[in-house]
Amino acid sequence: MPELREDPISGRSVIVAAGRAARPHTVAEVVPPPAEAPGTRAGDDDRRRSRPEASMSADCPFCAGNEAMTPPEVARTGGGEPDAPGWRVRVVPNLYPIVGAGAHVNGSATGAHEVVILSPDHRADFGALDDDTAVEVLLVMRDRVGHHLDAGRAFAFAFVNHGRAAGASIAHPHAQVVALDVVPPRVVEMAERFAVQDLVPGELAAARAADLVVIDGPAPAWCPPASPSAYGMRCAHRSTRARFDEATDAEIRVVALGVRDALARVDTLLGSPAYNVVVHTGAPGVHAGEMHWHAELVPRLGHHAGFEFGTGMLVNVVPPEQAATLLRAAAPAPDAA
Ligand SMILES: [Zn+2]
Repeated sequence: MPELREDPISGRSVIVAAGRAARPHTVAEVVPPPAEAPGTRAGDDDRRRSRPEASMSADCPFCAGNEAMTPPEVARTGGGEPDAPGWRVRVVPNLYPIVGAGAHVNGSATGAHEVVILSPDHRADFGALDDDTAVEVLLVMRDRVGHHLDAGRAFAFAFVNHGRAAGASIAHPHAQVVALDVVPPRVVEMAERFAVQDLVPGELAAARAADLVVIDGPAPAWCPPASPSAYGMRCAHRSTRARFDEATDAEIRVVALGVRDALARVDTLLGSPAYNVVVHTGAPGVHAGEMHWHAELVPRLGHHAGFEFGTGMLVNVVPPEQAATLLRAAAPAPDAA
């Protein structure tokens, strides 16, 4: 019997309908074809442990050597001259931004939209990054969010779209930072739910009681009891800091590694599907106790269709209890750490 569950963090009603996806062998039905999962072919298994040489593509604007194909960069880590090779993580304005850069007037959608190129490697998605790179990428994302808030934007956040089914138009793994001159309604509503109580420790305790913790540690990753998506996970530091841009380097480090490890399990279990990672954070003025920044991982295995559009309710065909069991079992090979 499908179950109706309420997800307190997203505020969504979720129907968990095990149905056709209740059995492990049916996972293959919902995995996108390999063409939608760039950089994930057989033989790539050694990427994370050795990274012998970066893959590159001659016509990719995000590959090292092709810096002239992007707008002038706004930040980098590593060495080299601006807009030349030598970088480790590179940030450029999005050539096709969601928001305009001009002054905000009523009715205009203004802000900033940037691309954070995860590494020079054309094929290393977040789940395949080595420890130092994963941490450096999340630090850069935090600092760019902070930069835009310091500049007076009303809200800024970071996310990853990986794979065409997740909205990525360029295969080279990258994250995005968007700053806005308005605080989005969903962000306001999430903060309102958190203002009643910090929902992260509550959900983590419920996840622990239901055996839904996938990776334990200072920044656990768990399947939400009312997961809005199949194999969806959340990852958060235990500290109660409200905002991503206020996280310490040490907090960023453990969350970066938690997210990386969680994505590696998704890759292993599901054959490197498309996915989104969203870093949920409070707007300026939201303080500890009023929000708890965290990452949400959403493998893109299905599509929102008529039912979801008509009801606002989401359907998850893989019970989180089953997802957590499978994800725990999908630990990377022992020498991959
Ligand atoms: Zn590339």
